[in-house]
This record gives sequence, C-alpha cells and structure tokens, in this order.
Amino acid sequence: MNPEEFRTAGHELIDWIADYRTRIPDLPVQAQVTPGEVTDALPSTPPAEPVGIDSLLKDLDEIIVPGLMMVQHPRHTGWFPSNASLASVLGDIAASGIGALGISWQSAPALTELEEVVCDWMRRLTGLSEGWKGVIQDTASTGCLVALLAARERAADYVSERGGMQSLPAPLTVYASEHAHSAIPKAALLAGFGRDNIRSIPTGSSFALDTALLRAAIEKDVHEGRVPAAIVVSLGTTATTAFDPLAEILEIAAGYGIWVHVDAAMAGSALLLPEYRWIVEGIEGFTTPDGVVVPPADSLGWNPHKWMGTILDTSLLYVREPERLVRVMSTNPSFLRNAVPGERVATEYRDWGIPLGRRFRALKLWFHLRLDGVAAIQDRLRRDLANAHRLAALVSAEPGWTVVAPVQLQTVCVRHEPLVASQMVDAGGLRSTAGPGTMAGSDSMAGLDSMAGPNSMTGSDAVAGPDAVSEPSTVGEPSTVGE
Ligand code: PLP
Repeated sequence: MNPEEFRTAGHELIDWIADYRTRIPDLPVQAQVTPGEVTDALPSTPPAEPVGIDSLLKDLDEIIVPGLMMVQHPRHTGWFPSNASLASVLGDIAASGIGALGISWQSAPALTELEEVVCDWMRRLTGLSEGWKGVIQDTASTGCLVALLAARERAADYVSERGGMQSLPAPLTVYASEHAHSAIPKAALLAGFGRDNIRSIPTGSSFALDTALLRAAIEKDVHEGRVPAAIVVSLGTTATTAFDPLAEILEIAAGYGIWVHVDAAMAGSALLLPEYRWIVEGIEGFTTPDGVVVPPADSLGWNPHKWMGTILDTSLLYVREPERLVRVMSTNPSFLRNAVPGERVATEYRDWGIPLGRRFRALKLWFHLRLDGVAAIQDRLRRDLANAHRLAALVSAEPGWTVVAPVQLQTVCVRHEPLVASQMVDAGGLRSTAGPGTMAGSDSMAGLDSMAGPNSMTGSDAVAGPDAVSEPSTVGEPSTVGE
C-alpha cells in the first residue's frame, strides 16, 4: 500500500469508525456469538491476492462487531468504564502512522521526550510533587510487576547481581489487601516471591485493608525470620472502590523500610479533581505527631485507559527513584548505545520496564488532553460522580434493592434481594419484582444526567457478585457528553 492508497482507505476507515461510534447505542450490549462462531466465519487461510478496504469494512460490520461486547455502550455497566475517547484514538492512529521505533532515546528522541513531558503534565494535573518521575506502561499489571521487581531487589540488596533470590537465606514477603486486584498476587508470583510469601490481609467493614492485621502479619514474618519487601496499597479496589488507609500503611512500612506500591488503576483518574486528592493523602510522606519521619510511597500506578477515557493501553507508573528501576532492568548492548549530543542526560525508558521496543503511547494522552481539554475531562468525571450518588439514592429507595458498599467514586455495588409476596404488598405492588440481576423499574432511572451517552463512563468497575446489575432496562436518551 502506498501513501495515496493509504489516504483513500484511511478516510474510509475513519468514516467507518465515526459511524460505528454513532450507532453503538442501537447495538446490543452483549456480543452476539457463541464460542467458535467468529472463527468459523473467517477463512482458515490468509488471502493470496489483495482485497479492497470495502471488503474489510464489510467484515468488520458483519463478523467483528457482532463478536464484541459494546463496552462503550450507554447501558454497559460491567467491569470498568472503557470510554476510548476519540481524541485519544486519533493519537493512537498517529502513533501507528508515525511508526517510530522506541528502543532508545536516539532511535526516537521525540517519543522519549514527549512521554516525559506528558507524564509530567499528568503529575501536575494530579497534584503530585516534582519528586515523582513517570513512565507509560501498557497496563497496571505490568506497572505493579515492575514495582515489585524493584522492591524485591532493594529488599535483597540487589541479589540478582549475585546468586539471585535462590541464594537468599530468608524468604521475602509481599502484603496486599484481600480485595487487591488479581494482578497484584500475579505480579508477586511472577517477581518470584512464591505463593507462600504473599500475604492477603483481611479487610474491615468498609472493605479497606485492616492495618492492625497488616502490622501483625509483618511482625510475625519478621519474628519468624522472613524479610518484608513490599506492600501494595489498593486505592479504589476493583470490587467496591475501597481505599486502603495509605498514610497508616506508609507509617507501618517506614518502620521496616518496606517498598510501598500504590495501585490506583481505576480510581487514579479522580486525582484530576482537586476535591478528590484526599485519596492519596500521605503519599508524599509526612512527620507523625511523635516526630517520626515517614517517607513517601515508592511507586504509584494508575490507568488513564480506565475512567479518564484514554484508549488502552495507557497506564502511568510514577516512581520516586527511577534509578532503582534502572539498576534492575538496564541493558546496554553495543547496538543500543547512544552517541547522544549535548550536555543533558537522555532518559532510556527501556530501563524503566520490561520491553525493549516501546510504542509511542504518549501521543494518546497528548491528543486526548489537547483535543478534549482538561476542563471537559474533569466535567465528565464530576458528572459520573454525581450520577453514581444519584443512582445509589434511587436504588436505596427501591424496595428489594440494596447498595452493598459505600459509594466512594463512580462505582455503585447493588444487590437485588427479591421480595417475598407479603413484602411486595407492603412495598405497594409488583413494581420491584424484576428478576435477579436486572435493574428495577425503568422510570426510576430516567433522571440520571447524560448517563446514556456513547461516551458516558458511569459503568461500574465492580464485579459485584451474581446479583450485580447486568443491564439496566432503560437509562434515558443517548448523549454526546465528553467528545
Ligand atoms: N488494579 C486495579 C484496582 C484494577 O481495577 C485493575 C483492572 O481492572 C488492575 C489493577 C489491572 O489493570 P490492567 O488491566 O491495566 O492490568
């Protein structure tokens, strides 16, 4: 394909994307296929001769789209809000079109430096101090793995430069709430801690980690000769958006020199709103009333590709001491050495993570922030928060429905507890007898602001059990807020 052919086909594809986004509200939320149906609809061998873009767009409509869950659908309330803002989609297209090779500063200086600048913009926007240096990872799972690798090596005095973990006299341990995302124990396993050394700390009534039990677990491990290496603090758990008490945890960690990684994968977007900065209270370190100096957290990860609406894969990882990542993950073969001009030291992002070749992900954030503007993104986050509280109030007022966890951000966890016949009479009739997993009367949902827009992001991050809302029957008219 030459650039002129690309131009023609590209215009058609952009038109197709715009049309597709427009008609999402008219499509079914669930994928309309059974396992194997997409496979069966596709030829088993690749084409020998080229086809036109029309043929591909037809297949997108007829095979691919029916095989997708419409996560941008106004009535999609599962998992996390996946807005995929069109402004960031343009950035993604630009990244692919530019086709930069991100293997060193020299291979694409603009890729590295735009990433530094955009991470710093995001740092400012979220109220973090200048002490935090950012990098874009593909996902929060990778960010956590990278943080735990650095934590492991710091705790073991860089044992990988010698005999590795297998030569350690005492096991290293990791701690996280029982409500931490499954990505956390997975990262700990991949970082070599071993299942026996990953502590799942129970939570209290608000589903946040119980710090007394954390302290007890650490003391027990130390007493028994193990070395606490890392605590992962969940700010905004997946099930209920619970917030582990960060400041208290930092204070406990300070006593043992434990690495603290903050996982705010979904909830981090709230930091764009100054009134929600309480979420990370303590993250910069502080002095206790007793005069104990508590250092800042070591790393923080959150996903603009969740609630903020930048398209996957855009996950921010901030660290206080990048040199800890570099020491563990640096590679410097002859074919990657730079002849860097000038006085300034170039950042080599390949040393801040696992892959060598890196995509130009910063363009997604750059386009999103510049084309949509921060104020519009903030407005949409506030709209979602207001909607969540309104929904919670409506659900609470509905007989047979319960809000089962505090509504901290935009996640509302609800349970349908069908009324028995005698209760129905008390509640005034049959209005709330929708089956388990469905939302009660549609009329009660009609007031939610713009909840039904193709880009609305009021969906729940929670998988709230078998009774979780699967699909509200009606949530109002589509809106276009946010784009
Ligand atoms: N942590 C939390 C709290 C999450 O909600 C999620 C995803 O839902 C993750 C981590 C994993 O995120 P990713 O898919 O970017 O690896």
